[in-house]
Amino acid sequence: MEKSPADLWRHVKSRYFLLGSVCENCGTKYFPPRVVCRKCGRNTKMKPYKFNGTGEIYSFTTIRAPADEFEEQAPYTVGLIKLDEGPIIEGHILTDESNEPIKIGTRVKVAFRKMYKEGNEGLIYYHYKFVPAPEQQKKQEKSKQKRA
Ligand SMILES: [Zn+2]
Repeated sequence: MEKSPADLWRHVKSRYFLLGSVCENCGTKYFPPRVVCRKCGRNTKMKPYKFNGTGEIYSFTTIRAPADEFEEQAPYTVGLIKLDEGPIIEGHILTDESNEPIKIGTRVKVAFRKMYKEGNEGLIYYHYKFVPAPEQQKKQEKSKQKRA
């Protein structure tokens, strides 16, 4: 991972839902949004796409020595979340809002929370984080037969 969460979030234009893009030519969805589809190149037909905000934990780590702007929040957990629609995105995982221990594959949903204040102007940023949501099952799994 080369981009820090702060770098990533500076590029997120919408604060209250995950706005990405979808290529109408091949159906690939992107977050953050892209202008040119990786698969289609000049045949790209991109339009905005609103993600439903559910997915599962792909990997995670707990940060104990954070960047200055996150100091008040340490220790905190960041991870890669695989959205149900496909893209894998980085985000904070709020582990203290659920009694469920998190692990790879834990279901999560997006939530919008205060990030940090910037300088003397006291600006407050809201950005996406993820909270464990064990009740949020993938739609496909409902149709699967249990093999007990
Ligand atoms: Zn495409």
